[in-house]
Amino acid sequence: MIKSQMELLVSLQDLDLMIEEAYEVEKFGFPTTGCDELKKAREELASRISKPFLFRYKRLREKLKRAIVPVKNDICLGCFLKQPTSVGTRAREDDQIFTCENCGRILYWLE
Ligand SMILES: [Zn+2]
Repeated sequence: MIKSQMELLVSLQDLDLMIEEAYEVEKFGFPTTGCDELKKAREELASRISKPFLFRYKRLREKLKRAIVPVKNDICLGCFLKQPTSVGTRAREDDQIFTCENCGRILYWLE
């Protein structure tokens, strides 16, 4: 099954957040296992994502913990601004990046 670029990017963010959590735990002196495994999985995943997607994601992640947020009922779950319905229709069809005009996060639409 070929996953869309957006789906891969969402998975990448999940892994990044998990790696961050693992580091947090380590700071408190708990030994963590699997951190290397997570990083390996991250590399593998990142290699399947196109450069422009990765670049946009990386830039946003410098400012925001969650660079990608879901949209539910046309509402951005990052800042709760209503998105134009037309954007949602396009986003479901095209595999390209749509961002929230208000908070700048990358959006993905939940069915
Ligand atoms: Zn927003």
